[in-house]
Amino acid sequence: MLRLALHACIIAALTALTQLGGIAWALSRLSRHPFAVFAALYVGLALLAVWVAPLTGRTALSCFERGPLQVQSWFYCATNRTYVTPELKAVLEEASSQVEESYPGTQTLVLDANFPFLTGFPLLPHLSHDDGEKVDLAFYYADAAGDHYSGQVRSPIGYFAFEQGPTNCPDTLLSLRWDLDWLQPLWKTFELEPQRNRLLVETLARDQRVAKIFIEPHLKQSLGLTSDKIRFQGCRAARHDDHIHLQL
Ligand SMILES: [Zn+2]
Repeated sequence: MLRLALHACIIAALTALTQLGGIAWALSRLSRHPFAVFAALYVGLALLAVWVAPLTGRTALSCFERGPLQVQSWFYCATNRTYVTPELKAVLEEASSQVEESYPGTQTLVLDANFPFLTGFPLLPHLSHDDGEKVDLAFYYADAAGDHYSGQVRSPIGYFAFEQGPTNCPDTLLSLRWDLDWLQPLWKTFELEPQRNRLLVETLARDQRVAKIFIEPHLKQSLGLTSDKIRFQGCRAARHDDHIHLQL
């Protein structure tokens, strides 16, 4: 009984993290070499998804491309979290090319996007990333002198390095607005690079296909952004002073 509960927990965790991992784990239990079979099944399913997902409307952002648009970490590729609709892919490619044109050598980094399948299946902890039309982008950073760090972010997977600023949100445990104060000293002490961040968000906001962009109000103000599409996500959702959220 305990074993069954343990496997149910592992299946749930792998499904939440990777969508396909739970299936691979469940099937691998039928084998006499479950770990090797799990690894093989997982890799097989992940590769198969790259081919099958486009038939149901989503496409994987390339993990090998070395152009202006790149997935920030191998973690997102290995966990099937890089899927978007073809329309969102085009938005991202065009915006990153535009930034690269103004600032040659600039890489725009994608964080969490969506899973390959099933509208309504959220990519935790982002409840809204469930239809291929949402994606998170990393900020651009610079050193104290303002020199851009190409392709680098403050934390290993781009999230949770918060740009502190004034907020009206109360301190509460019952929300997804995590402060993670204990993590902050671990991150690199980069500064935001204002020109590239402003250009990227303005370019996205001008795009007819983009419906909303979430960043914290104090960043919207300090970056001098004015578009109505740039909103505050509310106090109960994740903070948006560590990344940019974009949706069609
Ligand atoms: Zn998001």
